[in-house]
Order: sequence, then structure tokens, then C-alpha cells
Amino acid sequence: MITQIIEILKGDITQLEVDVIVNAANEHLIPGGGVDGAIHRAGGSSIREEAKVYIQAHKLLNPGEVMSTTAGLLRAKRVIHTVGPRYKIGEDRSDQLRNCYKNSMVLAEEEGMSSVAFPCISAGVFGYPIREAAEIAFSTVVEVLAHQSTVKRVYFVCFDEVNFSIYNQLYQELTTG
Ligand code: ADP
Repeated sequence: MITQIIEILKGDITQLEVDVIVNAANEHLIPGGGVDGAIHRAGGSSIREEAKVYIQAHKLLNPGEVMSTTAGLLRAKRVIHTVGPRYKIGEDRSDQLRNCYKNSMVLAEEEGMSSVAFPCISAGVFGYPIREAAEIAFSTVVEVLAHQSTVKRVYFVCFDEVNFSIYNQLYQELTTG
């Protein structure tokens, strides 16, 4: 039952004690604003150093792709960095956003992690409409969980009241049919 696995939280994702915190990064993995800035500030410089090594080898992390680092000073074990699509009217980039969630879940499983916290990827500076982004987040995670994932807890972490109420509304719609 997804109600036993998925939980919606409001607050600062960097404060959570979970196995994996997912970061809505940029393609250069350079510390930016929003949730990315918060993760780098709270996690310390080791996250940036590991990300640098990745960029030296791969040049970019493309939208929908994932890579992971240790979590530095955070209470999490790992940070999975993913790049959401920038929202563009007239262009359907939902597959890229879907891949952010799917690939994060798969990587968390590969790394033996059992709890994962997601921010509202692409719903900040990248401009994705929150309801649309939330629908993609839910449907993708539910689909992955249906295939017997080792991930036992998934948290959708909303930073503000508006996102929190939209996520809760959607959650209710999904769980009450
Ligand atoms: P993107 O560039 O993918 O849109 P942003 O970081 O701009 O990423 O925003 C993604 C979401 O993360 C937004 O809903 C924003 O309010 C939220 N956010 C910002 N800081 C935090 C934080 N410390 N914890 C959880 N969510 C956060």
C-alpha cells in the first residue's frame, strides 16, 4: 500500500534523517540556489568535491540523469543529484522529469538504501507547474514501487504551504480513488 510507503512532509529536506536526500541540481553540479544551495550549505564542501570529479569525467549531468555522492555533514547516507527539466510552454519535457524520479529510485535501490526524500524537482526556478510536477512525482514513484523495490519509505518534501497542500490533495485523490 502506498500509504504505508509514501509520506508528504513540509520543511527543510536537509534536516531529515533518511538514507537518501535527492537534490534538484543543475547540469554542471555547481552549487546554486533553492534546494541545491541548501544541500551544499548544510552538507559541506565534500559534496561539491565529489561532484567535481564526476563533471571532470562526464562534462555534464543531463536532465533526467542521476549521480550520487556521500552526504557530508548531513544526517543522510547519500545524496542523489538529478537535473530536472526547465519548463517550457509548448514542449513536453515530462519524460525528463519522470526519469529524475525513476532513476533516483533505481540508484537508491542499487546502493541498498531504504528511505528516500525528494524535493519538488523542477518546481522552483525551473518553473514546472506544481500540480503537474506532483502528478509525475507520484505516478513515477508508485510505478517503481510496484516492482518490489528495496526502498521502504519515500518522502515528498515540500518547502512551502502551497506545494504541501497540492501534494496532500493529490495524495488524497490517489488513495481514496
Ligand atoms: P529547480 O531548479 O529544479 O526548480 P529549486 O531548488 O529552484 O529547483 O526548487 C525546487 C523546489 O525545492 C521548490 O519547490 C523549492 O521551494 C524547494 N526548496 C527550496 N529549498 C528547499 C529545502 N531546503 N528543502 C526542501 N525543498 C526546498
